[in-house]
Amino acid sequence: MDYKEVFLGAGSILRGSGAFIYFLIPEKWIAMPTYIPPEAYVLKSIDDYAWIMVGNASMLLIPLEENADKVREKNFFELNVKVDDRRHHENIDEWIEKERKKIEKKESKKLKEIGKIKICNHEGAYIVWLEYKKKFGVFGAAICEAFFSCNFYCEETGREIFLKIRSKDPNILLSKRNELLSMISSIGCHSRAAKKTVKNKILFLNEI
Ligand SMILES: [Zn+2]
Repeated sequence: MDYKEVFLGAGSILRGSGAFIYFLIPEKWIAMPTYIPPEAYVLKSIDDYAWIMVGNASMLLIPLEENADKVREKNFFELNVKVDDRRHHENIDEWIEKERKKIEKKESKKLKEIGKIKICNHEGAYIVWLEYKKKFGVFGAAICEAFFSCNFYCEETGREIFLKIRSKDPNILLSKRNELLSMISSIGCHSRAAKKTVKNKILFLNEI
């Protein structure tokens, strides 16, 4: 499969522009901005690249198939990336336990998968879960959304990086799990995205 590089960044005339992260997506996929403008507060230059140290940004990812000729309404992922120069978790296991507890104590949430993954030379973790919601208040029909979140700390830039991917169609997110893992494992957080496949980067996999 061919991949293309996506740059998730922000800029202003006053501060200049910088990157949250770079990553690779399959050539057929489409990446586009959302109506929510990115927020970027602190820039830090490392080896000719300016990195956003504090802020967040959203993006839409449309996972087009090989020969799809039209995009279905719900067939997209909403990606939110948050970076912070303050570390909120001592290590990745602490994050996993915190997230696991948050999901398990809610009846409306269902844990699907937890795993650890290598991102650049950092140890990252990801969690996949489903969330049932009422469409119109208490009495409405229940809808189900799927989430894929990932957290890691980049020692090179000194940033905690948190990603959350949401899909209104759980089947699409679950069926694109490998592509999403491959995308996450390709993240460049202190250098450009690396052209690597997911195969040799999963550290452990915990099927639930
Ligand atoms: Zn890094």
